[in-house]
Amino acid sequence: MSLTAESMLLVHGRIFDGTGNDEIPDGSIWVEGEEIRRVGSADQFDDVDSSVPRIDLGGRFVMPGMTEAHSHLSYFNASSLQDLDMNCTAETTTIYAVLNARTMLRCGYTSAHSFGSLHAVDVSVRNAINSGMVPGPRYVACGRDVLGTAGMIDWNPDHLQLGMDGLAMLADDPWQVRKAIRSIRKSGADTVKVYLDGEGMIESDLPGELSYTQEEASAAADEGHRRNLRMISHARSADAVIMALEAGFDVIGHANYLNDEALARLREQRHRIFVTPAIHWQVGLYANGAEWGFSHSVLDSMGYKEEIAETINSVARMKAAGVRVLPGGDFGLAWTPHGTYAKDLQNFVELFDYTPRETLLAATRDAGALVDFGGKVGTLEAGKFADIVVVDGDPLSDVTVMQDMDKIVTVIKGGKIYHNALPSGPAFDLSATPGLRAEVERRFEAAAE
Ligand SMILES: [Zn+2]
Repeated sequence: MSLTAESMLLVHGRIFDGTGNDEIPDGSIWVEGEEIRRVGSADQFDDVDSSVPRIDLGGRFVMPGMTEAHSHLSYFNASSLQDLDMNCTAETTTIYAVLNARTMLRCGYTSAHSFGSLHAVDVSVRNAINSGMVPGPRYVACGRDVLGTAGMIDWNPDHLQLGMDGLAMLADDPWQVRKAIRSIRKSGADTVKVYLDGEGMIESDLPGELSYTQEEASAAADEGHRRNLRMISHARSADAVIMALEAGFDVIGHANYLNDEALARLREQRHRIFVTPAIHWQVGLYANGAEWGFSHSVLDSMGYKEEIAETINSVARMKAAGVRVLPGGDFGLAWTPHGTYAKDLQNFVELFDYTPRETLLAATRDAGALVDFGGKVGTLEAGKFADIVVVDGDPLSDVTVMQDMDKIVTVIKGGKIYHNALPSGPAFDLSATPGLRAEVERRFEAAAE
């Protein structure tokens, strides 16, 4: 058996493998190339050649890299919704997105599923990440949002003649909808988000006010699936959720309000559907929104208090029905800034009553199934991508530790070390050059001397 210099052995970790099995108290992970070759208790690795470099985790918690299931790398922490479309050129937006991708990876998210992009920024960023040009999570790129006239994000008044050039493609009637989706396919995106209803902040399209007919929604899903696009929907109300499921959408954003029929349909389709409540949108607004004009009384008047209560109720019902509900918190606005992604894990524990273990399983195994990179992300198992995070703390007793970047001590994606602050192994700082293979070998040699 020949061992390449691309092997490494992580030893003495407390392994949470993301499969739902118990932790391995003293375990090792053998990485070869971009994949995991073996995971197990420390005594199962005696056959590994002594030439394979070891990194001693010192008993620290080690887990699969997480997946951010509702992300917007191209959003630049704008302080008003209108700013998203108006404030930045495509070129500047792209630079922000590259920086956001680096931040997301640094936070322990080795995969991400976009829920909408400005311009075609997602596609460029995904390609740059995949080619190794810039560090970032494995990324499912979304196209511009598709919606009808007076749909949720058609918010610029007509008399200003601004259109919605960066964020959205307006399409009415099934054939225009199909055309919009075809052009997104041409742009190279993996997914399309379609707005089926509105949002409390938008007076011209409130939650429950359906902005598409079933005919348009079904045309969208049919066209997208024909063109190999994953179809995601913005659906806050029960009627919008029912419309999405009837049309055959794959992912539902929000699902704040459910009735018995919506829940029954979700249960029926639970093996193929994913739901991202993105509740940090509301939570972040209550925590930070006053600075940008969203005082608690303003938020209450938009129905957010009721919406949070309803969402807690809906998530409990979905959880009981076995629906995969995923963390991912609409980060990228001023009140939900990039780098704070793990706050949504805290929301799952504190609002949705998930245990920390259930929350981490949702963020790893279940969200890994959503992004579906060949079934190779989300768990630490032989044959999976070596997407690995080491935590200096115990997220199973306090999930908020995941918010502290100093505690996310090691981030490995595809067997490549992007960040390592452990005393053992080569040092990498994601604010410096990412872990290119030759550089890893050089540093391993230097560390061994
Ligand atoms: Zn979103």
